[in-house]
Amino acid sequence: DEGLKKSRTSFSARFNKFLANFRSVDEEFFDDLEELLIESDVGYETAMRISDELREEVKLKNVKKRADVSDVIVEKLVDMYDEEGKEEDNTLHFSQDKNPTVFLFVGVNGAGKTTTIGKLAHRFQSQGKKVLLAAGDTFRAGAIEQLQVWGKRVNVPVEAKAAQTDPASVVYDAVQRAINEDFDILLVDTAGRLQNKQNLMRELEKIKRVITKELPDAPQEVLLVLDGSTGQNALSQAKQFNETTNVTGIVLTKLDGSSQGGIVLPIRNELHLPVKLVGLGEQMDDLRDFDAEKFIYGLFK
Ligand code: GDP
Repeated sequence: DEGLKKSRTSFSARFNKFLANFRSVDEEFFDDLEELLIESDVGYETAMRISDELREEVKLKNVKKRADVSDVIVEKLVDMYDEEGKEEDNTLHFSQDKNPTVFLFVGVNGAGKTTTIGKLAHRFQSQGKKVLLAAGDTFRAGAIEQLQVWGKRVNVPVEAKAAQTDPASVVYDAVQRAINEDFDILLVDTAGRLQNKQNLMRELEKIKRVITKELPDAPQEVLLVLDGSTGQNALSQAKQFNETTNVTGIVLTKLDGSSQGGIVLPIRNELHLPVKLVGLGEQMDDLRDFDAEKFIYGLFK
């Protein structure tokens, strides 16, 4: 996979350079390792923990060779993810009856919400599902138009109103239409203005109420879309959104770019939220389900 390969290359290139410089397991080695891990976005605490545990392991197993050091580091990272990931459910949830499934997308502007909605609409459409989009980001006219462009591109209808309309009223109409016209899935875009947490919270609550009133089991997913290339910034955004709304999963976008990918660890360990989807480009096919183990092993290849 080209996109994933790029994200891996930036990390594995550094990792391999680090290993190439390896002489012995000394203080300098641990300093360099900590630096490498922090730069890869695993976060300060995780970097220190890996370094500490590696010190123990190196003593216990009397690790001296370069290849063994590399194995222990990869093992540690996978263990750390698994430790939290045991109960991880990174599958998407759907309506269990004839009612439409609703996914709500949240996240700051530019994270990749609209693009992800377009890609998912394309995926579901290809599976023979009837998909409707709702332009719930009424804050910017551009956002409405952009969703409509995606709707045309993947041949899926978009429920929209003029900019500045109450997003809850757009969502209300979309839910009615989804029920009356037997849609399988409704994907709802929202505005992500974190500057005003109180407003954002109220807006999202209202949107949710409108959905739940008609469809008690919906929304089945509240997906927080994060720009994976922003590293620790994405993590702090995630924390703020997680405080204001009940997020059920993460979509990590732009892993095809300069992203170091390590951000998946703190998202898991500090937020306890499963990454469900990853974005690997701007085209409709550039979306994948997330497989943690494959991803982490892949970082070191
Ligand atoms: P929104 O404001 O959250 O709706 O974000 P958009 O969907 O408009 O995306 C912002 C920009 O990021 C656009 O130029 C997208 O084409 C781009 N983008 C979104 N997802 C990805 C991705 O996975 N990879 C890359 N390279 N670009 C992406």
